Amino acid sequence: MKRTIKYLVVHCTATPPEAKVENIVRYWKEQKRWKNPGYHYIIRRNGEIVQLLSEDLVANGVKNNNQPSIHISYIGGIDGNNKPLDNRTPEQKKALYLKLRELASRFPLAEIKGHRDFPGVTKACPSFDVKTWLRDYTPD
Ligand SMILES: [Zn+2]
Repeated sequence: MKRTIKYLVVHCTATPPEAKVENIVRYWKEQKRWKNPGYHYIIRRNGEIVQLLSEDLVANGVKNNNQPSIHISYIGGIDGNNKPLDNRTPEQKKALYLKLRELASRFPLAEIKGHRDFPGVTKACPSFDVKTWLRDYTPD
C-alpha cells in the first residue's frame, strides 16, 4: 500500500560523529524496543547513504507525525558536551541535498522540514535551520 507523503523530515542522530549505523539501529531495537527504525535513510560522515527501511513503511522519527513522513538523518549533530552542533561534513551536506532533491522530485507535494520545525518539539534536531540552508546551499 502506498502512503501519502506530506513531509520529508531532516534529522541528526545526536550521537558522536564516529557512531556506527549498526549501533544506532541496535539501540533502537534493544533499548527503545522500536519495531521499525527511526529513519528511512541515514548519512554516514563520508556521505554514504544507508537505507534502513522501505519508504512504504512507517519509521519512528517524529512523534505523532510518522504516518505521512519520510525521515532522513545525518550522523552527528552534537558537540562533546551533547549540545546541538551542526557538524555535518561537506560530504554529508552534499548527500543530504541531493537526496532531498531526489525525494522532492518523487514527492512534489511534500514539505521539507527539520524535526524541530514540528509543533511542540523541544529538541534542536537536526541542529540547523533546514529551510535557510536549502535556500543558501549549492553543491559544488
Ligand atoms: Zn530528529
